[in-house]
Amino acid sequence: MKNKIVLITGSSQGIGKTIALKFASLGAKVALNDIAAQEESLKKTQQEIGKDAKYFLADVSNHEEVEKMMAEIAKEFGGLDVLVNNAGICQDRTLAKMTQEEWQRVININLTGVFNCAKAALPLVVSSQGSIVNISSIVGQRGNFGQTNYAAAKAGIIGFTKSLSKEVGKLGVNVNAIAPGFIATKMTENLPGQMAGIIKQLTSLGRFGQPEEVAEAVIFLASDKASFITGSVLNVDGGLSA
Ligand code: NAP
Repeated sequence: MKNKIVLITGSSQGIGKTIALKFASLGAKVALNDIAAQEESLKKTQQEIGKDAKYFLADVSNHEEVEKMMAEIAKEFGGLDVLVNNAGICQDRTLAKMTQEEWQRVININLTGVFNCAKAALPLVVSSQGSIVNISSIVGQRGNFGQTNYAAAKAGIIGFTKSLSKEVGKLGVNVNAIAPGFIATKMTENLPGQMAGIIKQLTSLGRFGQPEEVAEAVIFLASDKASFITGSVLNVDGGLSA
């Protein structure tokens, strides 16, 4: 990863921050991203990494902000080798109670955000013959109670990944997805009732995953060791989907 230029969306905290720290520890130059409300924590992450990291504020669901960010990255770093589409939210409610806004917001950030970032990054990633790694979810493969919006967006990411891999494979670009199971981050710390215990029981390894365990899989898919892997979905779920 020495001197590779990597953009990780939603990297002020959680899995995204851990991915950024891992890339930086391997010698990559890291472009951090999050929304303006997260500027303070982004700044802290940037300071933890040092001069090899810069941060860029942009809402991934806003294509103008994303295009501006990509132009700034090209100017600051001179290109882009790896795009990690990690930014995501959940707004859980059963379909009977879900509002149009809750549906649309999750689709806009989790799915249209991937479209916006991949589209804006594509010329850069093609010219470096780099790679794209999209963070989907086991929920996109199996569904989950109260998550029709999130599951639809994460399933959409899988279809998007497979389609884009066919479009850009002959241009030397690899596009893959990771489907994490339940990972210990802010997103999963307030699961309702006995849900955490039930999920651990259903997970072969009997526990939640750590962000580092997702980061290792991202590094692998972005590395030369995964040079013949494209259009794939790698489950990092402790056996929950087995
Ligand atoms: P997290 O701790 O909430 O981190 C996600 C980051 O993305 C947050 O900093 C969030 O900011 C940011 N973000 C939200 N909307 C954004 C936007 N419009 N533009 C740019 N950044 C935005 O969540 P995480 O658990 O690390 O999840 C990271 C990714 O893994 C997500 O795509 C998630 O769906 C996926 N995933 C997570 C799990 C899990 O168990 N944790 C499992 C499967 C998949 P705010 O906090 O201000 O919203």
